[in-house]
Amino acid sequence: MARIDARDVFQMVNILDGIVTVVASTHAMPMAPTLGAVAASQAALAAACLCPRCSFVGPTITSAPTAEAQVALTFDDGPNEALTPRILDILARYGAKASFFCIGARARRWPGLVRRAAMAGHSIENHSWRHSSRFALLGSHKLAREIDDTQELLADLCGRPPAYFRAPAGFRNPWLAPLLAQRALRYAAWSHRGFDTLDPVPARILQRVTHHIQPGAILLLHDGRNARDRQGRPVVDTVLPSLLQRLTARGLRAVDLPTLLGSTAAVERLSMRNRA
Ligand SMILES: [Zn+2]
Repeated sequence: MARIDARDVFQMVNILDGIVTVVASTHAMPMAPTLGAVAASQAALAAACLCPRCSFVGPTITSAPTAEAQVALTFDDGPNEALTPRILDILARYGAKASFFCIGARARRWPGLVRRAAMAGHSIENHSWRHSSRFALLGSHKLAREIDDTQELLADLCGRPPAYFRAPAGFRNPWLAPLLAQRALRYAAWSHRGFDTLDPVPARILQRVTHHIQPGAILLLHDGRNARDRQGRPVVDTVLPSLLQRLTARGLRAVDLPTLLGSTAAVERLSMRNRA
């Protein structure tokens, strides 16, 4: 069962607020049974949109069936001028690979960090352009812009377009899956989430991301922002080396998503926008 943090709750409220507004404006007729059915269907849809690891609104990767003793490390919300270099240094020290789900606007601000990660052999993936808290309320046209602008920039920076997409906070709507399919993008969620943006206690984060861990797991941490420990350091400074040591002790290798999922991101797989 995925846990929900305060930021997720805030975003859920935003989304529900939007859905309630739509229902109220389009079904304000005095037909109680019909309104009840509509409200029930809208509530079911809202629940599906708010479930980051469910497949109700489209195919969702949460882990990989694999015979290999490996797990995928993923970092969201970067690049960040302070955090991303620290994480890259730690990964290099341990010979580990990861996937970075980048926010397009941040990648435009710090393109050198994206290039550095790609050059080091990590995969660069798409986490929308703005990371809007209302992402799940966007219509098809605006969703396409969020995806395509980010694809285009990251392809320019890395020499290949991302092969995976992850929505802000994991909240989606039914318009997203067809857009991803048109672009040959796969939707990637996670199996283990650290809540490293909120929890200042490294031991608890480490426990969350390693609890009942199995080969094929997908771990979610953040390089865009991080909670601070008692000494004022980003928790990732403590969590990541400890995590990599613990994985090694269990015979597990940290890899990026394409490696875990056995997929090769084709260089020629350009976004629909680039083809046009
Ligand atoms: Zn995010």
